[in-house]
Amino acid sequence: MFKTIYVSMDIYADLKTQNPKPFSVTILRHQEVHAKNVSLFKTLKFILSKDFRVKEETLAYTAMFKHLKQHNQTFDLDHLARDFSKLRYIWMTSYAEGKKLITKIWEEA
Ligand SMILES: [Zn+2]
Repeated sequence: MFKTIYVSMDIYADLKTQNPKPFSVTILRHQEVHAKNVSLFKTLKFILSKDFRVKEETLAYTAMFKHLKQHNQTFDLDHLARDFSKLRYIWMTSYAEGKKLITKIWEEA
């Protein structure tokens, strides 16, 4: 179940081209990490546990950032830290905590 991977239309269009941008590929990598061994239990745990969300996003962003760094790309860490504190990530961290977390993930990727 839940084997479908969702990406936005522009990312999807880019992935279908001969030479997709490194960023589009990394979005796919990120989503693949989330889709791995997915179950209803894991989905509920993701919704209910902040710690589990942090763990899962750390894995997914590590895979994504490794690829971006290999291609000498940058990433808007500040923007993501803000998103972490919003509904999109179910208020996973405060902005300050998110900034610390994502900076650490980027540095260690
Ligand atoms: Zn994610």
